Amino acid sequence: MRIPAELLPADGRFCCGPSKIRPAAVESLSDVAQSFLGTSHRQKTVKDQVARLRQGISSFFGLPEGYEVIIGNGGTTAFWEVATFSLIRDKAQFATFGEFGAKFAKAVKDAPFLSAPTVHKGEPGSASFLVAEEGVDAYGITQNETSTGVAVPVERVAADGLMLHDATSAAGGLAVDLTQSDVYYFAPQKCFASDGGLWIALLSPAAIARAEEIKASGRYIPAFLDLVTAIENSRLEQTLNTPALATIFLAAEQTDWMNAQGGLSWAANRTAESAGIIYQWAEKSEVATPFVTDPALRSNVVATIDFADSVDAAKLAKVLRENGIVDTEPYRKLGRNQLRIALYPAIEPSDVQALTASIDWVIEHL
Ligand SMILES: *Cc1c(COP(=O)(O)O)cnc(C)c1O
Repeated sequence: MRIPAELLPADGRFCCGPSKIRPAAVESLSDVAQSFLGTSHRQKTVKDQVARLRQGISSFFGLPEGYEVIIGNGGTTAFWEVATFSLIRDKAQFATFGEFGAKFAKAVKDAPFLSAPTVHKGEPGSASFLVAEEGVDAYGITQNETSTGVAVPVERVAADGLMLHDATSAAGGLAVDLTQSDVYYFAPQKCFASDGGLWIALLSPAAIARAEEIKASGRYIPAFLDLVTAIENSRLEQTLNTPALATIFLAAEQTDWMNAQGGLSWAANRTAESAGIIYQWAEKSEVATPFVTDPALRSNVVATIDFADSVDAAKLAKVLRENGIVDTEPYRKLGRNQLRIALYPAIEPSDVQALTASIDWVIEHL
């Protein structure tokens, strides 16, 4: 089945991560290939790019006084373990409503040196929320649950206790007031349109003090997961061990690009525009409906669209793929008759529009 060329998006990449990388960023990487790739991460050339990334992120988010941009290796999954060892004193509370939130809660549950966390579990497609609780020293929630397309506001729930926000797919595409968070962490292969392998955490002074306090307590912390070590290295524009240089460069390119367009408010408006296109299309369609029934919880960066039984969404995704529109399949464990579509800032709203036209065409011809 051949979708007419005039309906197709200019770029068919809609993966929720790793996400579309702008061709211009790849060209810039190619321009510095000889001088940057394959050079020492302890020398100025690479340290300058780490500094560019950290400064770019700091201005993109309007980093509050005393907050720091900390970088380490291993992606968000590694950061969950970093937080388990270096940020939770004894007892955490989680609100989980999908795969990613549940994974962090499990890492903490499995840690023998911590008390059992309180977990408020929500159904996929809806949300659950944190509540102030006596004895809890860290609260964890996912700003954008990438597995289901549910987004929640970043809000402090208690006067004490660190607020940890998994912003892996939200950061860079959804508005945030960082004073409401102590640990706003993400990885660059989503809105920051880079490759995987790094974690980036925006730490409040309270979070930095907590990491120092736990380290001083003598708890065993594997060197790779020691947040104080990561803080010390980041201040020197380095990482503990060798980072992926291309990932750093591409993330810095995307950050500078977004800053040049108008920063976070521009990016959030752009994802809102793309989300408006796809949700309005689904609401008008006779066979498509937004999976997230509460419009207030619908994500502007990851759209999940259910289809009526008359449409085989797996078949639809397959035909799209054959036409160069890739990775619209739903999250593998969700098991729904659904498409999941990234709406990150690197993706053109006009391509989201073209995607809806292409889907309509395929459904008509299936
Ligand atoms: C992608 C994603 C992760 C996992 O990130 P990795 O860098 O692959 O470990 C975690 N949380 C959320 C919300 C994500 O979207």
